[in-house]
Amino acid sequence: MKLNERGLLVIISGPSGVGKGTIRKALFNIADNNFCYSVSMTTRKPREGEIDGQDYFFVTREEFERRIKENGFLEYAEFVGEYYGTPMDYIEKQMELGKEVIVEVEVQGALQVKERIPEAVFVFIVPPSKKDLIERLENRGTDSKQKIKKRIEKAEREYSLAYKYDYIVVNDEVNNAADRIYAIIRAEHAKTERSIHKYYKLMEGKE
Ligand code: 5GP
Repeated sequence: MKLNERGLLVIISGPSGVGKGTIRKALFNIADNNFCYSVSMTTRKPREGEIDGQDYFFVTREEFERRIKENGFLEYAEFVGEYYGTPMDYIEKQMELGKEVIVEVEVQGALQVKERIPEAVFVFIVPPSKKDLIERLENRGTDSKQKIKKRIEKAEREYSLAYKYDYIVVNDEVNNAADRIYAIIRAEHAKTERSIHKYYKLMEGKE
């Protein structure tokens, strides 16, 4: 028998512009992983280069609201005027298959997941400095000045919620941040509270 064969639900969260998406991609490039990414659904328009079904499922507001009514989301949030949500169906199935499911969400969404699935692993990404965050949002060049201002104001409010997370990871360098998350996932599997029941069964010869 293998201990801990069920995969973990790992929530990567933090203020917009902090580099969550880039870190997540770097995490998937680390060899020897069995991660799978939960593709979110959104009503915002695709940015250049984004692919439907890979970066997001891009849908209309009507479609999104229909799914809300059908309880089709693990969590969802309205973020600077657009909906973002994590489709429910995929996650449970992948965890049962032993995959680590990586979800990338903004802060409201992460806290909703915490209410529903407290045993998930919650990682809050922070920039090395506030100046760095502002520069990243401005340099991304995809949002209007007004949207950037809204994202910065929101980020300031979100920092005050970091204490609700299990881990804080500084995005000083993308690969370093991804390595830290990888190490966190390995360590989480070894946590006593996750594995002790199976270990007892093993020692009793029941499995
Ligand atoms: P962006 O428009 O920059 O792709 O995403 C805006 C914010 O929404 C980011 O902070 C991103 O992490 C977050 N986000 C992406 N997918 C989801 C989701 O499924 N649920 C929630 N709550 N936030 C999401």
